[in-house]
Amino acid sequence: MKLNQFVIIGLGRFGSNLGRELIRLGYEVLGVDRDEEKVQELSGVLTHTIVADATEEEVLRSVGARNFDCGVVAIGDDIQASILATILLKELGVKKVVAKAVSDLHGRVLERMGVDRIIYPERDMGIRVAHQLVSPNLLDYIELSRKYTIAELAVPRCWSGKSLGDVDLRGKFGCSIVAINKPQGMIIAPAAQDVLAQEDVMVLIGTNDQIEQCQESFQ
Ligand code: ATP
Ligand code: ATP
Ligand code: CA
Repeated sequence: MKLNQFVIIGLGRFGSNLGRELIRLGYEVLGVDRDEEKVQELSGVLTHTIVADATEEEVLRSVGARNFDCGVVAIGDDIQASILATILLKELGVKKVVAKAVSDLHGRVLERMGVDRIIYPERDMGIRVAHQLVSPNLLDYIELSRKYTIAELAVPRCWSGKSLGDVDLRGKFGCSIVAINKPQGMIIAPAAQDVLAQEDVMVLIGTNDQIEQCQESFQ
């Protein structure tokens, strides 16, 4: 199912940036907030904006919330409002409901309500930054499972000018480079003769241990 139309409840920092990015990507976004100032700020940016209390069923019904493919509840501090707005979107039949949680308990409540996706922005960003702080070459990563990760790493000085064959990454550490992002373009599935340069970014796949050992070898 392709999602085209989004309704965002709560235009705080999270909701407003989500809305701006969806617009930039070419999607339609209705923004709802009870704070007139927040709505004003985004009135020229989002497709539609309204000042309303999203915990009132009539409000969500009258804006046709049920016609939206995806509803995002981006209210944080007022947990009661977050829960009420979420249940209303679900009851109206919005196909996919996503909600932001500010605490573990808040997230557990949302989970029990059958929310399709729960986002913990502060927790997840904290975890991500911790990984990046302890691994200076780590630019970004995706955890594929508890064991496997895809990591985007800056090429260390000690590997600059060397081919993958010289580095013998797979032989030494067991992990593989799936892509090298060079300023002049991306090399997908690089081979032994492809050469790394300091300004490149390499995309590695492997177990967490393999990727960690590889990074520990950087001088
Ligand atoms: P952020 O961190 O994204 O800035 P936050 O976690 O601090 O947000 P809040 O400030 O509580 O969360 O809420 C985000 C927005 O949701 C605010 O602009 C607030 O006005 C709006 N909001 C809160 N309750 C409701 C409600 N019942 N109906 C509509 N909007 C609401
Ligand atoms: P392998 O069975 O490990 O692919 P191979 O004998 O087929 O090795 P080549 O494909 O020529 O040899 O590669 C030589 C070495 O270069 C590999 O053993 C590996 O260490 C390294 N190498 C080549 N391509 C990659 C890659 N995409 N990611 C990581 N290492 C690579
Ligand atoms: Ca906040």
